[in-house]
Amino acid sequence: MTASLMIVMYHYVRPIAESRYPAIKGLEFEHFRGQLDFIAKHYRVVRADEVIAAMRGEAELPERAALLTFDDGYSDHYDHVFPELVARGMQGSFFPPACSVLDGRVLDVNKIHFVLASGVDPRQLVGEIFAVLDTHRTSHGLKRNAEYYRTYSSESRYDTPDVTFIKRILQKGLPQALRSELIDQLFRRYVTADERGFAESLYMNTRQLRELHAAGMCLGSHGDRHRWLNTLSPVEQRQEIERSLTFLQELGVPARDWVMCYPYGGYDDSLLEILRDKQCAMGLSVEVGLADLTRNDPLLLPRLDTNDVPFSAATGLDAFKWADTSLVAARHSLT
Ligand SMILES: [Zn+2]
Repeated sequence: MTASLMIVMYHYVRPIAESRYPAIKGLEFEHFRGQLDFIAKHYRVVRADEVIAAMRGEAELPERAALLTFDDGYSDHYDHVFPELVARGMQGSFFPPACSVLDGRVLDVNKIHFVLASGVDPRQLVGEIFAVLDTHRTSHGLKRNAEYYRTYSSESRYDTPDVTFIKRILQKGLPQALRSELIDQLFRRYVTADERGFAESLYMNTRQLRELHAAGMCLGSHGDRHRWLNTLSPVEQRQEIERSLTFLQELGVPARDWVMCYPYGGYDDSLLEILRDKQCAMGLSVEVGLADLTRNDPLLLPRLDTNDVPFSAATGLDAFKWADTSLVAARHSLT
């Protein structure tokens, strides 16, 4: 049986060069179209329910199966991705955090992206963050700036140390209240004071999500507030999952055999237990690799980033590292 599955992860997909934020880290729309051409030529895009059936041994996936996943519920996905997928008869799986759709708030993760894309020098931002930490050190019992920098500057394969530090200290490194206050301050200073208007243009709304679902696209959970779920207590984790499931069920998603996509890839044992209890059938991590459906835990499937996959059908399969499905076995034999 074919057990190998290439799961591709996407975030922003837009005509970036001509947009208001040309520095945003995302996928240029023309590259997305080229990548779909590459995938259509060499792979068979499968549906999320086909993957679930295959993991249960109830069905087999075709050779070179691929699953396309879109995180964060951006309106990019409605405006640019959805029409391309429909035109090619491909299913995508979409993961909108509940609160970004329901509350008119911009998620902290996105505020940080747009602050970084605003043109401000990351060094300057690091200095501003240090200055805020200095004024709150005693009241919040904070560590020394250099210690935070050492801990958080090296956690990513995509960004420079300064940018990684800014993202991680603001995503999870500080006490929640201080983090939100600092992020809001930077967002207002460098991006906009109109958070609601920004949220409305950044995220899909419920009408658009219903339309995706009605057209056969898969909608899954990305939590409620896009938190690092492994930093929360089991009670908070359960709340995140329950709120997100209520939101999805209002959009017509069934209460069992649903798909989880961990914000930032963060999970732990207590979260997995909650997911099993809630009849989650598939979980997507940000571990990099091909999924092996006979070996992976169904709740911990690895993915490739879009940047790991060619942007043009002109690229041959022999030039694509992950076309070699033996990489699955090689990777696992190391562990
Ligand atoms: Zn996300």
